[in-house]
Parts: sequence; C-alpha cells; structure tokens
Amino acid sequence: MVGFRSAFEPERAPCGKTVGGDCYRDTDDEGLVVYDLYYSCGCRRTRHEYHDGTVNTQAIRHGRRHKVVSDEHSEHPV
Ligand SMILES: [Zn+2]
Repeated sequence: MVGFRSAFEPERAPCGKTVGGDCYRDTDDEGLVVYDLYYSCGCRRTRHEYHDGTVNTQAIRHGRRHKVVSDEHSEHPV
C-alpha cells in the first residue's frame, strides 16, 4: 500500500468555508485512485477514479454525521 499525504492550499470546503487541510492519495492494483481531502474544519471530499474511467465524488460536510443537535464548529488549529 502506497499512500501519499500532503497539505493542500485553502479552498472551498463543502460547508462553504475556505480552509486548507490534508490531502490523501492512494491507488490499488486495479487502477483505482482514491483521493481524499480532509479539511481542517472537519469536512471531507472524496474522489474515486476507477480504471474504466468512472469518477465518483462525494462531499461530506462537517458535523453532518452527528444527529445530535450540536452546531459547534470543530475547527482544528493548524
Ligand atoms: Zn466544513
């Protein structure tokens, strides 16, 4: 398994904030490319590129996984 992790420049996160974070890239033997962006606010953006050309992207806003009513911003100071 070879994964690359690097920081990315601030850009628009799914929640609308402009934040930076970590970018994680991985591939497997089948030609699948996984591209994960972890925003510092807690949002995530994933991009899966399959060997047949299919691209699957997903944007996950921070805090949406919690059903509890807690709208606090989980900002991690860099
Ligand atoms: Zn966010």
